[in-house]
Amino acid sequence: MKKNYLKINESKDSIEIQVYLENQELEEKKLNASMKQIVKIIKRNNRKKKEIMIDTDLDLEKDEKKDNKRLSLIAALNACKIKDKNERLEYIYMAACKYLDNEYIEKNICEFCNDICLGKQKYNIKNGCCHEFKLKNIFYPKNLPLCQYQKEGKCIADCLGCKLFACDEVRKKGVKLTYYNVPLVRYFFNFAQKIMIRFSVFTHKDTVLKRLRLFNF
Ligand code: SF4
Ligand code: SF4
Repeated sequence: MKKNYLKINESKDSIEIQVYLENQELEEKKLNASMKQIVKIIKRNNRKKKEIMIDTDLDLEKDEKKDNKRLSLIAALNACKIKDKNERLEYIYMAACKYLDNEYIEKNICEFCNDICLGKQKYNIKNGCCHEFKLKNIFYPKNLPLCQYQKEGKCIADCLGCKLFACDEVRKKGVKLTYYNVPLVRYFFNFAQKIMIRFSVFTHKDTVLKRLRLFNF
């Protein structure tokens, strides 16, 4: 018998969340609705502290690279099981970083060629990151200072604000990854946290998380 996609059973001491995809593709509408519901349960349960149990046919351990909708749902379900809200915040933060890495790296959005990305091809430069490029030295891009978190051509900071940035060249391709359409960011972070992420660029995740905890209601 076909099971319901999402069912929530709540008793005095526990909440059971059932999710069955049964090999169906996860539609965006469905994902958004369930993320909303899951976040509501987590917030409501912050004070009640009921046991949350998950019953699903999804592999909650899977390192999902190809399907970001599944990645989001898996992360939301795993987050339900994390009782400490700061630990949960960090888990969701890293899952959102993973989501964006999957989008950019797996889909080769920045079209790196010989270490030069699409946005910097006209300047023929390897150095620097998107934000340095865009904000710090727009008139003399050849003199870009290297962000302290760029090591061997890679960012070691897991800076979510930087990951949510897209340069004009990338936007021209129709790529738009924003605070609204990355479900983990949209539903798990409140308005103040979104602002904090937006203005915490060139920043190591430890510092960003410290700031986000101040608004982790
Ligand atoms: S977003 Fe633009 S500037 Fe940043 S790495 Fe990608 S192509 Fe380069
Ligand atoms: S923190 Fe931002 S600017 Fe610095 S290396 Fe990472 S992505 Fe680039």
